[in-house]
Amino acid sequence: MKKFEQYPISLTNSLSGKKEVFKPIHPGFVGMYVCGPTVYNNVHLGNVRTFLTFDVVSRYFRFLEYKVRYVRNITDVGHLENDADEGEDKIAKKARLEQLEPMEVVKHYTEGFHEVMRQFNILPPSIEPSATGHIVEQIEITKNLLDKGLAYESNGSVYFNVRKYNQENHYGILSGRNIEELMESGRELDNQDEKREKIDFALWKKASPYHIMRWPSPWGEGFPGWHLECTVMSTKYLGETFDIHGGGMDLKFPHHECEIAQGKAATGKTPVNYWLHSNMLTVNGQKMSKSLGNSFLPSELFAGTHSLLDRGYGPMAVRFFMLQSHYSSTLDFSNEALQAAEKGFKKLINSTNLLKKMDPAGSSAINQAADTELSRLTKECYFTMSDDFNTAKTLAVLFEMSGRINDMKAGTLPLESLSHNTFNEFKNTYLGFMENVLGLKEEEEQNSEILNGTIGLLIDLRKKAKADKNFSLSDKIRDDLKKLGVQIKDGKDGEMTFSFD
Ligand code: AMP
Ligand code: ZN
Repeated sequence: MKKFEQYPISLTNSLSGKKEVFKPIHPGFVGMYVCGPTVYNNVHLGNVRTFLTFDVVSRYFRFLEYKVRYVRNITDVGHLENDADEGEDKIAKKARLEQLEPMEVVKHYTEGFHEVMRQFNILPPSIEPSATGHIVEQIEITKNLLDKGLAYESNGSVYFNVRKYNQENHYGILSGRNIEELMESGRELDNQDEKREKIDFALWKKASPYHIMRWPSPWGEGFPGWHLECTVMSTKYLGETFDIHGGGMDLKFPHHECEIAQGKAATGKTPVNYWLHSNMLTVNGQKMSKSLGNSFLPSELFAGTHSLLDRGYGPMAVRFFMLQSHYSSTLDFSNEALQAAEKGFKKLINSTNLLKKMDPAGSSAINQAADTELSRLTKECYFTMSDDFNTAKTLAVLFEMSGRINDMKAGTLPLESLSHNTFNEFKNTYLGFMENVLGLKEEEEQNSEILNGTIGLLIDLRKKAKADKNFSLSDKIRDDLKKLGVQIKDGKDGEMTFSFD
């Protein structure tokens, strides 16, 4: 019997708003798609929370012995500054401002993203497709929608006809809206607009003469719409209907709503069975976002160099901090919460280290009550994670287990009083949930608290040296750190970050 048969998963499906028992399309196989980053700047800690959520979800499916195909894309074209199909393409804009080729921007930030994922022990997906690698498929689906009369061309761009789609379907099914409501909100169209109605969205956009990212199409040179790329890449690798689609809560509307409409319109099938949305990381109750100016980079977090931080924290302590709340709740950042998380994380890691050195002793005098208690805790880990991936409750169970591990070490719960079987299952479950499911391992030496704190201190001294116009000292700090493999980068407004070469 596979573990997933023993511990069926229930999850909150954003489509129904209810907890449902997960039933995969193909027995024993999970197909999951998560919207990846738009690679035009560095990922901030809020983005990390979303990717961490789905890392744990995919890890747990694998732990339960499902075969998982996890697709997470790279958005390297088509994401405009504004959700209403207005503004510049984010990557093209960055390339223009920095006088780079768009693909230089894409490569730089994709590598930075991968490094951050590695630091937080977020595993790579099975497939990481990019939007620019799927232009042909995006043109094909646009043609298909035009043929079906569900899209129209206007001045070299193509838009999805939401009202027509809505005659036989419900546009707004995921986000609980309807088109009448949507028609009342937002900017009114003027005679400059290409769209027939403001609820329509772009499948293909005509490239203006200065636009640098462009491809030939039946409608002239242009580039694909952001929503379309996810429909194309998810269905190409997972099928016209697949199991799970995830992303941050802020993508529910319009991005995911449009994906449902396009997919259904193109194939006649409901594209996704379960929608999972992770909630936002907030700062003083406000969503962490670059545009609000309340975001910070992982490197600033490790070094403690951002004004919101009292000191630096290692990535594993931060991972633990995020796992302490359920993915569907908002999580507010604070120094106090990080400090508490660091303590909690160390406690659990100490138990990991102790347990690794323990072997079952076994004897004829088994303490039945203790044996039963350990078996209960072992099962409880599975029950809590299978209950909508409740990492918060799972950590609470691991704390209880950690208490028993300390008792074993102290001799108040002698190993001889536990059966081989119970002890082995207890050990495998504790280590399996810590390392494989929650991805919590010892902080890497490189990112250790002391090292990060020391670099943070040197950065502060360098800022002071610069402010005092002591440039020989500020250069010395930069150059000496470089010799040690620590690269200091000067940002705007005197901000400094670092990376390991
Ligand atoms: P973006 O590159 O802006 O499209 O964002 C990448 C992912 O990060 C998306 O799934 C967003 O929903 C998610 N995200 C953005 N800001 C936050 C935040 N403050 N907390 C959690 N997730 C976020
Ligand atoms: Zn997407």
